[in-house]
Amino acid sequence: MHPAANTPPTPGDVLPDHPDFLWRNPDPKPSYDVVVVGGGGHGLATAYYLAKNHGITNIAVLEKGWLAGGNMARNTTIIRSNYLWDESSGIYEHSLKLWETLEEDLDYPILFSQRGVLNLAHSLQDVRDSKRRVYANQLNGIDAEWLEPDEVAKVCPIVNVSSDVRYPVHGATYQPRAGIAKHDYVAWGFARRANDLGIDLIQDCEVTGIDISDGRVTGVRTTRGRIAAGKVALAAAGHSSVVAAMAGLRLPLQSHPLQALVSELLEPVHPTVVMSNAVHVYVSQAHKGELVMGAGIDSYNGYGQRGAFHIIERQMAAVLELFPVFARAHMLRTWAGIVDVTPDASPIVGLTPVRNLYLNCGWGTGGFKATPGVGWCFAHTVATGEPHPYNAPFTLSRFTTGALIDEHGAAAVAH
Ligand SMILES: Cc1cc2nc3c(=O)[nH]c(=O)nc-3n(C[C@H](O)[C@H](O)[C@H](O)COP(=O)(O)OP(=O)(O)OC[C@H]3O[C@@H](n4cnc5c(N)ncnc54)[C@H](O)[C@@H]3O)c2cc1C
Repeated sequence: MHPAANTPPTPGDVLPDHPDFLWRNPDPKPSYDVVVVGGGGHGLATAYYLAKNHGITNIAVLEKGWLAGGNMARNTTIIRSNYLWDESSGIYEHSLKLWETLEEDLDYPILFSQRGVLNLAHSLQDVRDSKRRVYANQLNGIDAEWLEPDEVAKVCPIVNVSSDVRYPVHGATYQPRAGIAKHDYVAWGFARRANDLGIDLIQDCEVTGIDISDGRVTGVRTTRGRIAAGKVALAAAGHSSVVAAMAGLRLPLQSHPLQALVSELLEPVHPTVVMSNAVHVYVSQAHKGELVMGAGIDSYNGYGQRGAFHIIERQMAAVLELFPVFARAHMLRTWAGIVDVTPDASPIVGLTPVRNLYLNCGWGTGGFKATPGVGWCFAHTVATGEPHPYNAPFTLSRFTTGALIDEHGAAAVAH
C-alpha cells in the first residue's frame, strides 16, 4: 500500500469552493431612470419586473442595510389567496399564480411547497364568517373548501379536534394550493435575475431625503450621496411612513413589531399550514424540520425589531392547545420585524400626489405572499404611470373617499 493512503486528510482540504456571489456590489451612479427605495422582496421583484416586462433596466434598488434583511428575512412564509373581497382575490390570486411558475422563471430554487392552508374556526360566528369567505373565494375561482372537524383531522392529524377543549375546532377553510416557500431563496432569486438584467442593487445606502421640484420627484438624497431619478418607487416596508414623510406625505399607517419563532429540528410531523384566529397562532414545518410559528402584532408602535415576551408566552399556550403533540418541543430562536398596518388591513399600492413618486406599503402582516404579484403590478404602475387593474383599488385616496377594502377577517391572524 502507498504510505500516503493512510495519511489523514488535512482539515479544510475537502471543503467545497466558496459559491460565486449572486449579484454585483456596485457604487451608485449619479442618475437612474427609476430608483426603488427598499431592497426587500417587493423592491427586488418590482425592479425585476420593470426590466423583464417593461424593458427598463437603468434602475437602482437602494437598501439601507443588506438585501432582504428586513421583513423578507423575518416572515413565516405563508402564501395563500383566500381573502374575502374581489379586489383582494384579484391581486393575491395573481400572485399565487406567479408563485406556481416562479422557480422556472427565476431559474432558482425557492422551495415553493403547495401543502395547503387550514384556517380554523372555533365559534359559530367563526364558522359563518369562514363559510362566507369560502363561497366568496369560490365565486372568484379560488380553490377554497369548507372542512368539518373530521376532515380537518384527515388533512392534519396532529391538530387537536377534541370537543373537550376551551376553543373546540368547529371546522376550517382549506386552500389546497396555498403553502410556503423559502423566503431568502426568493429574495436571492429575484436579486440574481435583476442583477443579470443590469439593475444596480446598492446596499448600505439609506435614503435620507426625497427631492421634489414643481410637484415632481427629481431624485433622492442618500448616505452615499444624491442620486437623480426620473421616477422613485417606495417599497420600504416597516419604514413606509418615515420615507413617505420625506416627500411631505402623511400615511394612514401604524408600525408595529411582529414576532415569530422556530423550534429545534423535528422529524416531518406537520404536513400543512394551520392558522387560528381565535386561539391566535399559525404553524408550519419548514423544509429542514423546524416548526415555524407566529402570532399577532405587539400592540404598541415602534421601530425596534424586537417584541415583548408575553406575546411569545401566549403564542406557546395557543400552540399547545391546538397541538398537544408539541408539548416537549424546544423553541430555539425568536425575532421580530416591523409591519406597517393600514386601518382596513389592505395595502396601498399606486400613485401619490407627487408626480413620478409611487407608493407600495401597508401590507402589514401579510405581504410575503404578494411578493411576485405586487412586484408585477407595481412595476406596471411605475412604468406606465397608471395603476395595473389589480392594484387600482388599493389607492391612498381610499382613506378619504371611504372606498375601504376591509380584510380584517382574512388578515387578522398575522401571517
Ligand atoms: C414575523 C413576521 C411574519 C410574517 N409572516 C408572513 C407570512 O407568513 N406571510 C406573508 O405573506 N407575510 C408575512 N409577513 C409580512 C411580510 O414579511 C411583509 O409584508 C413583506 O415582507 C413586506 O415587503 P418587503 O419584503 O419588501 O419588506 P422588507 O423586506 O422589510 O423590505 C423593506 C426594505 O426597505 C428598507 N428600507 C427602509 N427604510 C429605508 C431607507 N430610508 N432607505 C433605504 N432602504 C430602506 C429596509 O431596510 C428593508 O430591507 C410577516 C412579517 C413578519 C415581521
